[in-house]
This record gives sequence, structure tokens and C-alpha cells, in this order.
Amino acid sequence: MIDDFIIFERGGSVLWRRTFVRLRGDPIATLIREVLLEDRASDAELSTATYGVRWSLSNEHRLVIAVVFQRLLPPAYAGELLESVKGSFTEAFGAALAAGEGDDADFSAFDTTFDDLLHAAEQSSLRRAREARERRTARNNAPRAAPRVAPADDRAHSPPDSRAPDSRSLPAPPLSTPPLGGASAEDETRRNREAFIRRRTAAKKKSSKMTTGTTILDTPVEPPKRGKVMRPPRSSVADEAPRLDFSAPAGANGGDDAEVERVRRQFKEGASNAAYDLLDVSDEEDGATGDAPNGKSRTLASGVLSYFKGLAGMRALTRDDIEPALAQFREALIGKNVAQDIADRLLESVATSLEGQQMESMTSVTTTMKRALDEALTRILTPRQSTDILADISAMKGNGRPYVITYCGVNGVGKSTSLAKTCYLLIENGFKVLIAACDTFRAGAVEQLRTHVKCLGKGVELFDRGYGKDAAAVANDAIRRAKEGGFDVVLVDTAGRMQDNEPLMRALAKLVEVNRPDRLFFVGEALVGNDAVDQLKKFNAALSDHQRSANPRLIDGIVLTKFDTIDDKVGAAVSMVYTTGQPIVFVGVGQTYMDLRKMNTKALVRALLR
Ligand code: GDP
Repeated sequence: MIDDFIIFERGGSVLWRRTFVRLRGDPIATLIREVLLEDRASDAELSTATYGVRWSLSNEHRLVIAVVFQRLLPPAYAGELLESVKGSFTEAFGAALAAGEGDDADFSAFDTTFDDLLHAAEQSSLRRAREARERRTARNNAPRAAPRVAPADDRAHSPPDSRAPDSRSLPAPPLSTPPLGGASAEDETRRNREAFIRRRTAAKKKSSKMTTGTTILDTPVEPPKRGKVMRPPRSSVADEAPRLDFSAPAGANGGDDAEVERVRRQFKEGASNAAYDLLDVSDEEDGATGDAPNGKSRTLASGVLSYFKGLAGMRALTRDDIEPALAQFREALIGKNVAQDIADRLLESVATSLEGQQMESMTSVTTTMKRALDEALTRILTPRQSTDILADISAMKGNGRPYVITYCGVNGVGKSTSLAKTCYLLIENGFKVLIAACDTFRAGAVEQLRTHVKCLGKGVELFDRGYGKDAAAVANDAIRRAKEGGFDVVLVDTAGRMQDNEPLMRALAKLVEVNRPDRLFFVGEALVGNDAVDQLKKFNAALSDHQRSANPRLIDGIVLTKFDTIDDKVGAAVSMVYTTGQPIVFVGVGQTYMDLRKMNTKALVRALLR
């Protein structure tokens, strides 16, 4: 049973529609927002809480044909109906639409055709189901039936409602950890951690200044052998190898004079990457004509566009025409560190939008192909909500509560460093900042922040409760303290955690649920490839699963670190934004307080297409 069937132009005007029942919400608006504008037209289906939506595109006539049904009762004939309606509708009205006479066409004449097509699709679906049933009966009645395997045909048409539902559409399970302070798995983790710290403290006596410390995870790890502060860029953050503590040499109060001096020199006086500007590429490099910019050897543009030189004079692009070029685009995007899955989905959408487009000349094909990918990337990367944190904070100023930003991510990606850089930016802009030390897990984490606070000087204070405390409660106390003390902003540092570490993910969800920060930033390295997608999906899934609220807080901004170490392999930015639909708020480009930038979408797209 279908609930709604609609045919509309990509420009937005509805040409024909049949609504069978009154809809709750607007699944077609969701289709436009989350699929068409997001370049996800190659996805198989859209699921909202109530509905499933499937669609077909007629690129030649710039039409979208969509069917809406109950998510749990998808009609087996949806795909067949979409295709038959597309064929009949474009046959009946394609000429008028192509001639720009759509306004004069009487689309209501399509009513009876649709009834016939719907009836035919329903009948053929029933017939297939009946035949499948008969085949099963015949097999069951056969004297020596072979082991039972559903025939391919049967499987192909079996109702897809047996699919595992998206876990995020299920109601979130109740938190098994009780509210602040109760006995829980977190307590047990904490006890383990305390035992581990005791063992570590004994072992640590022998260790040297800059090589002590470790990331304390739920299982004890050996003290590391390599330094943390200046460690070279890693190709992946997936390893849970122990990191060295930033502030291991600090005394009980953290931030001893030598350490403060060292950090002050590095972060305040060190050579900033101010001149570093991948984010500012000159206009001449816009290779819309297909010429390879920059004279780079084998570039995305030159590789793909040269292919199209052979397509002069063709009228409508077919899938076969596009396929070889797609392979080259894929290789180039993955070469720029875009996650494979994201590159595939993005290119599939671009291909879907190009198929059937009229091409007048060689130049037109060339330009169209490049523009399609450029437009898709620009749409994906252009923030849809504010990334102007300073403006947001200013707007909140004086309303009696501080603006709260929480940083999360895996170990060693640059959370504390990015937090300190943000703090510097805020102080420079006259805001009063409280840093909440909610990484109560990793030895040295509090001292690392204390050192930064000493270096940052006036305008910032540290709020900490030491180690082993419930991070959610510490953040809560910090926010209360900030309210009382007239602070404008609270920056909440959290423990690094791997995306699969359930107890720690549960603790993060609790911190977020209890404290409802204004922004929840995921800090990720620009170095990551495919793992970026896994990290983000799992962080968001865990945040969703472990909050009881019907409207759980998820990641709503990305801080992309170590951009200075990746040359032109800027693809992680695309993977992260595509996965979350959230903007890159800051980019870290070095190891001084000044090395924080905003992302320039246009320049990023150019870097990707170079
Ligand atoms: P955390 O464990 O996520 O808090 O990571 P840290 O903030 O301690 O940073 C880990 C390492 O990455 C430190 O050596 C930082 O100096 C370094 N780092 C952080 N951000 C950047 C950046 O943008 N560029 C470079 N090159 N290094 C960075």
C-alpha cells in the first residue's frame, strides 16, 4: 500500500500528485533536503521515523518521481511502479516539458494512466507472490524435497520489512548507568583505572620527564616508549597505542615552571602557520575549462576531461559514457584521502544526475562533468548552520548562562590542543573562559590543561576535580561555577575514547545528556581515511543509543586537526561532513595557539579537484 505518489521538477514545482492518506510530517521535504540537496540520489531508499521513500530521476526532463509508503510496510511493487510511471509520464509530457510548455500541459490527464499503472503493478506483484507460494507448496509436497532454499525470484520479491531496522530509529534503550554518583559499570571502570594508576605510579618512579604517562583505557597498557608532544603525524588514529603525557613532568599541581615555559615558547612564540593557506587558493586555478591547473602531473581534471574529448557531438550521456570517467574520478578522490565508501556514493549521485543530460558539444560535456562534481562537493561542504562561534557566543552573552562547548574524539587527535587554541581565540575577543577538565581518566590530562591555562594568561581559569570523578558531574559543577563567576564560555575537555569502547561512549553520552552543551565538537585528524567514517558513525550511534531523550544530542560540529601535515590530501574533510551532515567549524594547522582557521569551502573544493 502506498501513501503518496508525486512527480515534481527539480526546480520545485509539483506537476502531478496522488495522496492516498493524510501524511504525518513532510517526507517529500525530507527527500529534497536530505537526499537531493545532499547529492545522495544514488541511495536506495530514504527512511524517516514513519515513512519509507523511494524515487527515480528523469535527468533529461529534470524530474523527480517519488513514492511514499509506511516504512514497515514497503510495497514490493514500488520500484516497478516508479519506472512505469516515469516512462508513461515522460512519453506523454516530455515534449511539452522540453519545449518549455509545461505550464500549459494538463497533467490531470495522467490520473487514469496512473490508476492503470498502479493496478498493473499491484497485480503483477500479487501474481509473483502467488507463483512463489505455489512453488513452495510444490516443493513441500514433493516426496524427497531438497533442503529448503528460497528461490531467487522469491527472495527478490519478499517484503523488505524483514530488514534490520536502522538502530537509530529505535527508541533509545534506557541508560543502565544511574544518574550522577550511582554505582555503575563506570564505577567499576574507575576502580580498575585507579588500580591501574597505583600500579603505574609505582612503575613511573623510574621513568624520564618527557616519556612517561599513558592513555588509560579500560584495560591497562604498558608505559609508552615515544614522546607525545612532538610526535610525527600518524597515518591513522585507529591504534590504541599508549600516548605520552603532555604534562607528565609536572608536579602535583601541574604546570611546573619549566613546562609552562616550554609550552609558552611553543604555543605563543613558536612559528605559527599563519602563512599556511590551503584555504586561500587564487582564482586563476579554477579550472572550469578543463585545463589542468597548477601544471600538476596527472590531475583529476585533466584525467577525466581528456576522456570526454572523445565524446564530441553526442546528445545524451549514457551510463556507459560516464563509467570510465567515474573510475578516474574515484581514483583521484581516494588519492586525496576521501573515504572509499563516500567517494563511491558521491560519484554515483553525480553519475545519476548526469545520465540522460543533453550534451551539445565537446566543451559542454567537459564543463558539465566538472561542474557537476564541483557543485556536489560545494553543496556537501557548505555549512547549513552557523559556524561563527564568536557571534553565537556574543548572542548568548548576558543571558545568565555560559555558552558550553564540549570536545570529543579518539585519543591523540588534538582535542586539548584545539580546546586551548579556541580558548586563545575567545580570550583575544574579550570573552571570559572556564576550562572544565573532564578527562578524569588519562593521567596528566588535568595538568596539560593547567599548563595551557598558565600560558594563556588572563581571561581563563581551570575547573577540575582531579581524577576518577564522574565526568558528567565535573562538567555540571563547572557550568554552575561559570554561572556564578560570570564566565561567558565553558570549554569541556573529555577523555579520548575509541569508537568501539562502550563504557567510555556511554559515559560521553551521559555527560552530553546531563549537561546539554551548546555545541558538541568532534575532533578528528585530517590524516584519517576510511576510519573517519567509522569513528563518526559510531560516535553518533553511541550518543544516540545511550541517551534517553527522544531528541538526543549528536555531534554538531567538526574540528579538523593537523591540516598542516597532509599536503593536498584534504579528503577527510569531505568524508566527515558527508557522514554527519555537520560543518567543519575549525581547522587546526599547526602547534601554536594561532594555528586555528575556518574552512573555506570554495578553496577546499578546488584543492579536491586539482
Ligand atoms: P588529545 O589527546 O586529543 O587531547 O590530543 P592533544 O591535544 O594532546 O594533541 C596530540 C598531539 O597533536 C600534540 O603533539 C599536539 O601538539 C598535536 N597537534 C594538535 N593539533 C595539531 C595541528 O593542528 N597540527 C599539528 N601539526 N599538530 C597538532
